[in-house]
Amino acid sequence: MSVGYVGLGLMGKSMALNVLKAGFSVNVWNRTASKCGEVVSAGAKQYDTPAELAKHSRYVFTNLSDSADVLEVIFGKDGIAEGIQEGSIVVDNSTIKPSTAQEIAKRLWESKKVHVLDAPVSGGDIGARNGTLTIMVGGEESALTEVLPVLQAMGKSITHIGPSGAGQVCKAANQIMVAAQMVALGEILVFNEKCGVDSEKVIQAIKGGAAQCWTLDVKPERLFAGNRTPGFKSALQSKDLSIVMDSAKEFGVAMPTTAVNAQLFQSMVQHGEGELDNSAVVGVLERLNNIAIKEPKKQ
Ligand code: NAP
Repeated sequence: MSVGYVGLGLMGKSMALNVLKAGFSVNVWNRTASKCGEVVSAGAKQYDTPAELAKHSRYVFTNLSDSADVLEVIFGKDGIAEGIQEGSIVVDNSTIKPSTAQEIAKRLWESKKVHVLDAPVSGGDIGARNGTLTIMVGGEESALTEVLPVLQAMGKSITHIGPSGAGQVCKAANQIMVAAQMVALGEILVFNEKCGVDSEKVIQAIKGGAAQCWTLDVKPERLFAGNRTPGFKSALQSKDLSIVMDSAKEFGVAMPTTAVNAQLFQSMVQHGEGELDNSAVVGVLERLNNIAIKEPKKQ
């Protein structure tokens, strides 16, 4: 069965490579065509448009930045909807609004008899490279059963959450926690600095206790090495928190902590720091406190 992969950014490229490694025949398309190079060298076939790719793929995966981008690549000119065959399955690995995921699923089913799964992921660029992502799925369970072998090439934990949009609600929940952890880590590092205590020792000590989490395992080491590159771009973190706050408004949920965290990431975007890693939110706290955290280690 041929698998189409549309969107070879930080996440999509590694995920497509893992699908290839698992033995599937892979078709690719990326807006910036040159970014297909590595995956094509590994054996994938590159197409000129999403429509052409969809015509030749039983399963079509998308991994794009935001809701509008997914709508454009599916329903726009030369989009997936123009080429896709009845009975194919579209799987969207992007993080987008739950309501947009529902709209896409409804439109493609009604117009093409194509099932759409929302299947956003968590685990960062490292999880994408290692094929250890957590995948949260919304949509028809029978479609999930069919594409499961492909998803298993990308991730280790694959959960069917519920109908269309439910995977994106789950991802939004995930992002509430991730943002809170990044901001808390930033506050810890600035707090230690102001108190004159060695942050590396603090992190070493607390990551074995009740504060243990993925963020403490992965991000301090990068920050101590002076590395604030993504990982996960702050502009995308900001986008995800907008999805959360939009949904909170829609359903009438009060989420004061997430509202503040959304503002901190928005501040990064306004300072031209959207391309930095989400752990670089420590920079906002450095500005607020007029202090810089520990100098990078000499490499
Ligand atoms: P990225 O590196 O910025 O890649 C974005 C991809 O989307 C690129 O292939 C880009 O094409 C394409 N794209 C964006 N807008 C487009 C449009 N209008 N038309 C066609 N292609 C378009 O982002 P990423 O980190 O891979 O993230 C992708 C998705 O995964 C996002 O929804 C993000 O929230 C989610 N996610 C990311 C992570 C992470 O750790 N990075 C973790 C979990 C989930 P070009 O190459 O032409 O720009």
